[in-house]
Amino acid sequence: MRERTNRHAWRACVGQPTVGSNPTPSAMIDFEAAMSLALDEARAALAHGDVPVGAVVILGDEVVARRHNEREISGDPTAHAELLALRDAARAAGSWRLSGATVVVTLEPCAMCAGAMVNARVAQVVFGAADPKAGACGSLYNLATDPRLNHEFVVIGGILQGACAALLSEFFAAKR
Ligand SMILES: [Zn+2]
Repeated sequence: MRERTNRHAWRACVGQPTVGSNPTPSAMIDFEAAMSLALDEARAALAHGDVPVGAVVILGDEVVARRHNEREISGDPTAHAELLALRDAARAAGSWRLSGATVVVTLEPCAMCAGAMVNARVAQVVFGAADPKAGACGSLYNLATDPRLNHEFVVIGGILQGACAALLSEFFAAKR
């Protein structure tokens, strides 16, 4: 199959795990299964014309939040999947502090979302496709492992990256 070109160039970068200084979460997580849930969420964003990005938050071995991008439908510039999922997770946990949490998201988090993850003290972030235009977990910035910040988290990229990137490419190709 020929690779479809698109102006947003959601390149599928090979995920290189970046190890932060925090201990890894105790629970063993099936990253691909969790990413499949995030992909289901991402597809739900298509129903209202939002860029298909989905995120889930795992605490212990439980999925406590699953959301998708709602920027268009809510008219809210901060309504990224990860932020909405962090809010739900904090509500479920009864605390803003999400120590031990894993965020699984189809696209590398932006600076806003990565900043929120630092503030939420999450343990790790697992993403699908890298975002060379806005990614802040290794592509443009790395807010996950900046020693000037008061928290660092582990980043694992490239989980089901083909499916995650294809969903975005198809969305932008269809908009042209
Ligand atoms: Zn974001």
